[in-house]
Amino acid sequence: MLIKRTNTTDDLLAVTRARGLDLMVWPPRYDRVYRPHPQDDFWYPELECALSETRDAIILTKLKNQIQYAWEKSPFYRKKWAANGVSPATLVHLDDLTKFPVVQKHELRVAQASAPPFGDYLCIEPARVARVHGTSGTTGRPTVFGIGGDDWERIGEAHARILWGAGIRPSDRIMICSFFSLYIGSWGALKGGERLGATMFPFGAGVSGQTLLAVRWAQTLRPTAFYGTPSYALHFAEIARRDGIDPRSLGLRILFFSGEPGAGIPSTKQLIEETFGGTCVDMGSTAEMTPWMTNGECRHRAGMHLWQDIVYTQVCDPETFAPAPFGKEGTPVYTHLERTSQPMIRFVSGDLTRWTDEPCPCGRTYPRLPVGVYGRIDDMFIVRGENIYPAAIEDTLRSIDGFGGEFRVIVSRREAMDELLIRAEYAHTHNDGEAQQRLQATMREQLRASLGVHPIIELVPEGSIERTDFKARRVIDDRDLYRTSLSDRHDANDSDHG
Ligand SMILES: [Zn+2]
Repeated sequence: MLIKRTNTTDDLLAVTRARGLDLMVWPPRYDRVYRPHPQDDFWYPELECALSETRDAIILTKLKNQIQYAWEKSPFYRKKWAANGVSPATLVHLDDLTKFPVVQKHELRVAQASAPPFGDYLCIEPARVARVHGTSGTTGRPTVFGIGGDDWERIGEAHARILWGAGIRPSDRIMICSFFSLYIGSWGALKGGERLGATMFPFGAGVSGQTLLAVRWAQTLRPTAFYGTPSYALHFAEIARRDGIDPRSLGLRILFFSGEPGAGIPSTKQLIEETFGGTCVDMGSTAEMTPWMTNGECRHRAGMHLWQDIVYTQVCDPETFAPAPFGKEGTPVYTHLERTSQPMIRFVSGDLTRWTDEPCPCGRTYPRLPVGVYGRIDDMFIVRGENIYPAAIEDTLRSIDGFGGEFRVIVSRREAMDELLIRAEYAHTHNDGEAQQRLQATMREQLRASLGVHPIIELVPEGSIERTDFKARRVIDDRDLYRTSLSDRHDANDSDHG
């Protein structure tokens, strides 16, 4: 597909072509062996440090192509847009994007249920899907991600470029300590690191006893970089110390994270940096939006940059989905700009964040999320990397004979690991100790199966937990209190970061 040149982008196009990136076609063509000099700060300085009007012109051109493509290839978008009175012709200026309706997660589930397995927003032949990933599906129907082979290569390009911005170089050896499963995080990190030319050490996680092995392998292999979740990195450090190994002695230079908000929380970031003696880099949007690193910090760690010319992101009002002014809180709404398999156009993440356009010391002109992504609009919360919905807990408890009808969830942090405590009522029929023991075991086992994490069950008599006619606030997240006070402190010290 040929794209139109505009005067504002002429020079930029010439320069990027010199680096092997051809923006004259859509999707853009990359030189798959291009790499900057290790001492260069930027992969594509012309794009990363562009004036916003120049970059917006590039984004608009890519967006027009992306929208035209989705219109032609996807019944999902054609129907949705026609019903809202928009079409590719609606998009004249970048601002016109907000005239397009948002896409919510549940719409994807419905689309996949009626056109299994990929939904009618898959825009390539199913046979051209090169990788299948997905959500764990603990709260109902899982979402299936079908990624085309060309998309996967472009994901590698994007991740390599963003990892470069975080300070990773071809001389680095990256240890990946997260699940190699349908979870896209590990694979996306692997792909990006390979494209960048680093030595990849895909160790994995999740097998019993694996963390101690990871520590010992790290001692032998001397990785210079680490990828996982923040809570797992701290767990890894505890295991190392128990084995008599100072985590600082491992020589990790950069630790980069996704899957949990921790790496964007100033106190956790500081704890990780003190624990390992390396820099802690926060990354991650959401699996649907892979390349998920397009929310990604640079090596100055002043909050995640929004790498707008790869995925165009607006922080929007959670009710109207109009872009929020800089400085205000909202939910990220993401739009792919070079995705051919399952493009997401105005996808609502449901996360909470705030954004700023204040300059970053690195010189990149992308907006930033100065305190990362710190919460959810809905009730979902994350424990040890698993998305937990109160509705799923309720669902499971209510299916158990002997449940007394009400419950509370208390999430806290102990020894750097999230802990999930469920305080549940037992029915009058289960007054004796033996029945309660059995009930406790049943609840623990069934909740573990449906949530993917081990809860602690505390039983209390029926009727002892307060009821309400309003939507019950059943979740008490102690970690939130902790976070709020810390982000206030962060605001006061904003200039210290970077
Ligand atoms: Zn920066």
